Amino acid sequence: MLDMKYFDVYYFCHLANNSIDKFDYAGTYAEFFDGEFEVTPENFPKVSILRQFAFWLVERVIYEQARTAPQDDKYDFNPASWLEQAIKKYKNKTVSFAGFCVEKNINTEDYLETFNCFVEYLNDENDNLYFDVIWDIASEVEYILIQNREFLLNFNEHTTIYFQDHPLQRCYIPEWVKRAVLFRDKGCCVFCKKDLTGLYSLLDDKEKQFDHIVSLDEGGINDVCNIQLCCQRCNNKKSASSSTSSLYHNAY
Ligand SMILES: [Zn+2]
Repeated sequence: MLDMKYFDVYYFCHLANNSIDKFDYAGTYAEFFDGEFEVTPENFPKVSILRQFAFWLVERVIYEQARTAPQDDKYDFNPASWLEQAIKKYKNKTVSFAGFCVEKNINTEDYLETFNCFVEYLNDENDNLYFDVIWDIASEVEYILIQNREFLLNFNEHTTIYFQDHPLQRCYIPEWVKRAVLFRDKGCCVFCKKDLTGLYSLLDDKEKQFDHIVSLDEGGINDVCNIQLCCQRCNNKKSASSSTSSLYHNAY
């Protein structure tokens, strides 16, 4: 269960959604994907590639803010203060950057170096507190973005570039992935809105209702963020191409 705090989560979602191919603010997607795709990804990992990406994104942005933070107090984003607030919100713990500097007698002009020491201190002497908080925020970012199939299509199309040399085989889709996708897509085909909930419970071969947004033939991966619900008729029409729809259900 996620205990959603929404601490700048929509800001990170916005960055992710707008960053494909034009991510000058926090480096490029290539930085993430180059690191991630050195090895063949496993099939349907419990931690999706999307959450790993969200974790990378949040951490990268905070690092970038610390790197460029000027020394004066007028700067409108203070990474250390942001981190203090995030830890208070997510972990209900109070940490103090200023207190840390006094306690450890750190007196450096270099903000980034001091901030990195603070991060190290939170991880090494406080049970991975920094990583835990970034992970919590990344999980919320994933929660929001996985609802947005158009984003997922872009995101998964992008993964294929880094994954050309390791084509994946079709494999059995785990029940937890099917349940997640069934609930997200409200039990209906994402193309024609046909209600598939009855079929889902009756069909022996439930695999037929689940479709790779970016097909395996086009370099898509076996990951929960690359699966959508789709009736057989629309699936046949789509065949091995990569697409989704902009059809979403009304909120009420
Ligand atoms: Zn359909």
